[in-house]
Amino acid sequence: MSLHHLTDPGARTRPVRHGLGRLPRLAGLAVASLLLSACGGAGGAGGGGDEAAAGFPEDDITFVVPFSAGGPTDTVTRLVAEPMSEELGVSIVVQNVEGAGGTIAAGEVAAANPDGYTVLMHHIGMSTAPSLYADLPYAPLEDFKTVGLVTTVPMTIVARPDFEPQTMEELVIYLEENAGDVTLANAGVGAASQLCGLLLQEALGVELTEVAYEGTGPALTDLVGGQVDLMCDQTTNTTGQIQAGEIKAYAVTTPERVDSLPDLPTTEEAGLPDLQVGVWHGLYVPAETPDEVVTTLSEALQAALGDQNVIDQLAELGSEPAPEEDATPEAHTEQLTSQIDLWQPIIEEAGVAAD
Ligand code: ASP
Repeated sequence: MSLHHLTDPGARTRPVRHGLGRLPRLAGLAVASLLLSACGGAGGAGGGGDEAAAGFPEDDITFVVPFSAGGPTDTVTRLVAEPMSEELGVSIVVQNVEGAGGTIAAGEVAAANPDGYTVLMHHIGMSTAPSLYADLPYAPLEDFKTVGLVTTVPMTIVARPDFEPQTMEELVIYLEENAGDVTLANAGVGAASQLCGLLLQEALGVELTEVAYEGTGPALTDLVGGQVDLMCDQTTNTTGQIQAGEIKAYAVTTPERVDSLPDLPTTEEAGLPDLQVGVWHGLYVPAETPDEVVTTLSEALQAALGDQNVIDQLAELGSEPAPEEDATPEAHTEQLTSQIDLWQPIIEEAGVAAD
């Protein structure tokens, strides 16, 4: 297969409210529908729901992270949740719902009460899952409203500290000669790390032994400990270990080098121009969430992305906030649509399936 990729951005927007009192989250659309209709109308996708949206937010909001705590998605979520919470005047609770490459969490949020109190942070996996999973319990473009893109994060090809190859060039030769003996960690089928690993194997024409974890957190722990050989994952979580010498790094998967890891060559410099991937992140709510609520959330996201602490911390981790023009539901929907279209033939050609 030809491996191209993308590096793509994030976005922002704003949201509003609902005066019905809280409905149980992650639970029943049935209950939500009942109460909304008792009030004479639904806050549907078409943007009705002024009443439903009035007063939002009045209570804690839950941000669902589809991977384990301590991983890149978790890190980005906690980074923006704090200033968003300040902006919205309520607490934001981060909940990690792991498993199946993020699809379990996405399925739960798709079925949650559409009141703005349950928000999904997901990454590029939102666009690859429809091609990877035959029985996906949700449709990304139909069962969610996009809130806005958040950030795009480069990936790094990294290895356990005592892995023999010292450079990307040496790694290529080593993998070609020893593929059968090399283990490649990922954060689950459909995770960005799995896709990056797939691209690496395709680029070299080798087949490594993949080891799936429920997130980058545990995968990276095993890499540092030497239980697995190789991994490709976001700079959000590999930068610290690379700088501390706890893992070996070979290349970064973006067209440009990353400021926080200036000595690390790009995959293109290392002779693998097709191995490029940027992990974009965005916020989602269930499709029937009132537009006013989405606008309130989006505005809070925009404010958070302008926060100097967020900018500085993302820079330290090799990333930056989504530009303002990308931090909108419209830009986010555009991104999601184009990424679904981009990945579909690549995954099909690779013959990869998750279920
Ligand atoms: N970095 C992971 C991935 O490969 C997900 C995570 O733990 O954030 O998708």
